[in-house]
Amino acid sequence: MSSVKAKHAYVIGSGPNGLSAAIELARAGVHTTVIEAQSFIGGGARSSELTLPGFIHDVCSAVHPLGVSSPVFQSYPLAEHGLHWIHPEVPVAHPLDSGDIGVIERSVDATAARLGAREPYRRLAKSFANDWSLLTDELLKPFKIPRRPLLLGRFGLHALRPASWEARKLFSTQRGQAVFAGLSAHSARPLESPGSAAFGWVLGMAAHAVGWPIPRGGSQEITNALASYFQSLGGNVTTGTRVPSLDEFRDADAVLCDVGPREFLRIAGEKLPPAFAHKLESYKLGPAAFKVDWALSGPVPWRNRDCARAGTVHLGGSLEDVIESERAPWENAAPQQPFVLFVQPTLFDETRAPAGKHIGWAYCHVPNGSTVDMTERIERQVERFAPGFQKLILARHIMSPADFERYNPNYTGGDILGGAQTLRQLALRPTRSLYRTPLKGVYLCSASTPPGGGVHGLCGYHAAKLAQLEMERS
Ligand SMILES: Cc1cc2nc3c(=O)[nH]c(=O)nc-3n(C[C@H](O)[C@H](O)[C@H](O)COP(=O)(O)OP(=O)(O)OC[C@H]3O[C@@H](n4cnc5c(N)ncnc54)[C@H](O)[C@@H]3O)c2cc1C
Repeated sequence: MSSVKAKHAYVIGSGPNGLSAAIELARAGVHTTVIEAQSFIGGGARSSELTLPGFIHDVCSAVHPLGVSSPVFQSYPLAEHGLHWIHPEVPVAHPLDSGDIGVIERSVDATAARLGAREPYRRLAKSFANDWSLLTDELLKPFKIPRRPLLLGRFGLHALRPASWEARKLFSTQRGQAVFAGLSAHSARPLESPGSAAFGWVLGMAAHAVGWPIPRGGSQEITNALASYFQSLGGNVTTGTRVPSLDEFRDADAVLCDVGPREFLRIAGEKLPPAFAHKLESYKLGPAAFKVDWALSGPVPWRNRDCARAGTVHLGGSLEDVIESERAPWENAAPQQPFVLFVQPTLFDETRAPAGKHIGWAYCHVPNGSTVDMTERIERQVERFAPGFQKLILARHIMSPADFERYNPNYTGGDILGGAQTLRQLALRPTRSLYRTPLKGVYLCSASTPPGGGVHGLCGYHAAKLAQLEMERS
């Protein structure tokens, strides 16, 4: 085996996966440069004054159960590079029209009692939350023979079910069923489809085991800490260069691409064998996001005050309402009453807005490429559970599916999860070859590879390990 110490690598894209890939290569001694299209780094983990001066909004990711669970992020000294996690008192709340509310507390017992959970939830949740680091180790690595087959098997048995079915089995109350539906809706899959319960279980167990923290100062702080650590290892970052073609890197020992299949087709172009290009072209995209950020003159006037204990509030009503909303994008319709993921960072982080002022972050799912303006429907959903909300709006910033794609070519048609979360694409994405491409020394490392969307850096880590191994062999 040869040393990788004199080798040179490039990483295209500075999202969390690009930066993690770059860190792994730099840690191994590879001379590594990250090239970013935008004038700023971070991709889906960025913050910016989107509305008014002094109001720091998260452009994409806001809440990080996967980030704090990530064994890769845990292995980096990110606190020394400025990252500080803030834990809201409760991870997530889900109000209902009746004034009742479902809340996921950190404690399994308190949650189970409040949500009317049936015995299997209490038993399974305790076991999964206790073994969370072992479980994430299994779930967040590429599809391989499991080291803990029993644990993974027990988890898989429940995760592979439709969320609608699982919600009714696990909870006897409307609020319990609605909470599970809300967690599962993060998958952007119809909740009657097999495997849609996976997100419900993963995000629910993360809430018990590690919480749903927000980074102090906004998601940009995750990016800044990753970039600072990378640079401390001798790495270089170049911004403002959208790589037009892989031809630029003929002399590189490895090129890792933090890009989606469509952008990869653009930059690799004719070099790809037609069969592989065809597979990338037929990779299934998921629904899009439509997002609104607000600068607010005060805290959200929730009808149920428990909402103010939570960093994240799911606004969608009952299980049946959430099912209908999440089915719509798959029937090519924009939901009339969208399930809205709402985050209120300034209740827990005073650095994000001028004194006494607040911000709100929200999005819903719409069909890929949808041109329907969802602003009014989203605001109606907030108003439904917080009458008087609209009177607090000082300014708003809107991102449609087309805006997302303009912001980041990885968000094709507004799909923010790097591809549909179908059963097949959860494990084998974007092709059976996962990180490997037919081009020697060229790898994919974006959220379109396993384990998929979210700010966790695992896709970058696995691709970098493969690249390192193959450089050592060459
Ligand atoms: C609205 C929204 C809300 C979200 N909420 C959450 C959340 O709360 N929690 C969570 O964990 N995740 C969330 N996500 C998902 C998360 O942001 C992404 O899954 C994650 O950022 C993917 O990381 P990545 O490194 O694969 O790619 P990205 O973050 O997409 O980064 C890719 C980078 O590559 C650059 N690039 C692309 N092509 C080129 C090129 N040709 N040349 C140079 N550079 C290029 C892009 O500009 C971009 O900076 C959210 C995403 C969105 C959009």
